[in-house]
Amino acid sequence: MNLFDVYSIQQINITKAKGSYVWDEANVKYLDMYGGHAVISIGHLHDHWQKALKDQLDKIAFYSNSIIIKLQEQLAHQLGEASGKEDYRLFLCNSGAEANENAIKLASFYTGRKKVVSFSGAFHGRTSLAVAATDNPAIIAPVNYSGDIIRLPFNDEHALTECFIKHGDEICAVIIEGIQGVGGIYEAGTSFLQAIRKLCDQYGSIYIADSVQCGYGRSGAFFSHDIAGVKADIYTMAKGMGNGFPVAGIIISPKFEAKKGMLGTTFGGNHLACAAAIAVLEVIQKENLIENAATLGQYIINRLKSYPEVRSVRGRGLMIGFEMNEPFTTTLKSDLLSICKIFTGEAKNNTIRLLPSLALTRKEADQFFTAFESLIYTQS
Ligand code: PLP
Repeated sequence: MNLFDVYSIQQINITKAKGSYVWDEANVKYLDMYGGHAVISIGHLHDHWQKALKDQLDKIAFYSNSIIIKLQEQLAHQLGEASGKEDYRLFLCNSGAEANENAIKLASFYTGRKKVVSFSGAFHGRTSLAVAATDNPAIIAPVNYSGDIIRLPFNDEHALTECFIKHGDEICAVIIEGIQGVGGIYEAGTSFLQAIRKLCDQYGSIYIADSVQCGYGRSGAFFSHDIAGVKADIYTMAKGMGNGFPVAGIIISPKFEAKKGMLGTTFGGNHLACAAAIAVLEVIQKENLIENAATLGQYIINRLKSYPEVRSVRGRGLMIGFEMNEPFTTTLKSDLLSICKIFTGEAKNNTIRLLPSLALTRKEADQFFTAFESLIYTQS
């Protein structure tokens, strides 16, 4: 049987990983400035994470949500402390799309409404509601089209206010990434997020903060949305949560009442997933990784801005996007990989995305810049 061929892949077979580095089958070492789509949060195969998973495997790997799973309670407690949302509640699932799907569903149960506001450039995942809210017609199948999604221009307060004046009583939720990832690293403005909060309060709608990529400390704050000084009703999380072990979740404000059976999953919150997620939170706290993301991210952003060859730099913390001037616009990313052995990511309009582990060191960041300069100075 062959694989269903849906991914554009690099011809590299990675067989080993540690910290910010991975090795291929010929033992060639690569610097990982991408973390496999922002997933590696504390570094590949961190000792504490590895031990937590191995220890858990010696006890129990899985049982369904029909029994007490103490690790879920421990995770909820630690997540409440880490995020400053002790009064919220946690529902665990398996992927970012599933988290967003559950968030929108919960909002609809709560409001009894159907219309969902999302924004240009948004990516929320590939399941039905999540993909309908995503701004990419190519990945929306006919069965996913929903007449209930209202897409507005990103960061346009006037359009948002007009929309609420017209449809406010029908709007179930507004879903927004704090920093758009797939869309090219664009930050939601502080006053825009405040306007969402205000309008949702005024019209009884739900504010959903999609923190799947920008959350979990990556921006230098636990949730990048919270920089605006207002709280969302539901935060969705996935990527960095398990450092590569599949685990996702939503945290839910006290205003929602849980009813038996309203949400559910077979695999979500299993013992191994919880062990991985707890280990991630412990390392983030012990190694001050959120502070590291803030300071090292600022260092990288400042340095990128200093090169005339760089056209624009966007982002916050260790969620960074930049575009190059000619002749590097379309070649730099592939040259970084093939010549310098450095993984980076891409996004719309030739944006290069840097989403390294939050444990990236200054030395590793400098290794990136040495390689970057070797490419731009030999070719200019
Ligand atoms: N939301 C955002 C902001 C994302 O970046 C992604 C994935 O890239 C998703 C949701 C979907 O996550 P998953 O691929 O785990 O379903």
